[in-house]
Amino acid sequence: MGRIPAGKYRKRIMNLHGSCLCGEIEFEVKTPIYFNHCYCGRCRKASGSGRASVLVTRPEHLRWTKGEALLKRWDLPSASSFATSFCSQCGCAQPRLTRAGDFAVIPAGSLDDALPIKPECHEHFASRAEWIVLDESNLAIHDHDA
Ligand SMILES: [Zn+2]
Ligand SMILES: [Zn+2]
Repeated sequence: MGRIPAGKYRKRIMNLHGSCLCGEIEFEVKTPIYFNHCYCGRCRKASGSGRASVLVTRPEHLRWTKGEALLKRWDLPSASSFATSFCSQCGCAQPRLTRAGDFAVIPAGSLDDALPIKPECHEHFASRAEWIVLDESNLAIHDHDA
């Protein structure tokens, strides 16, 4: 996920809860220090979407509270640090440590609590899919029950 700039949220204490889609894995995150959208080709593949929205924090601020044994990790061999982490039962993206173990990367969509902060930047924007546009205000808004 590239370099990790100093985030403006470093000092803000939060206690956030997250889980996977099937509910067998649960975790807690304290004090995210950085929040971004990444548009790189790896994040697009890993997320199956146009971008990955991720929080970064220190490893000691990530704690598994349920189902850690169900986690599956895959380290991309050609990358120095890129990896995926997901629930082996439902496939939902879950937090992971960087390969060096110095940061924890948390997929923002895996959180259940409302996140009181906003993304700080568009990372690797030049690598974005050609259909990505920043201004989506022209799109119709449909709200359905999922
Ligand atoms: Zn699951
Ligand atoms: Zn990326």
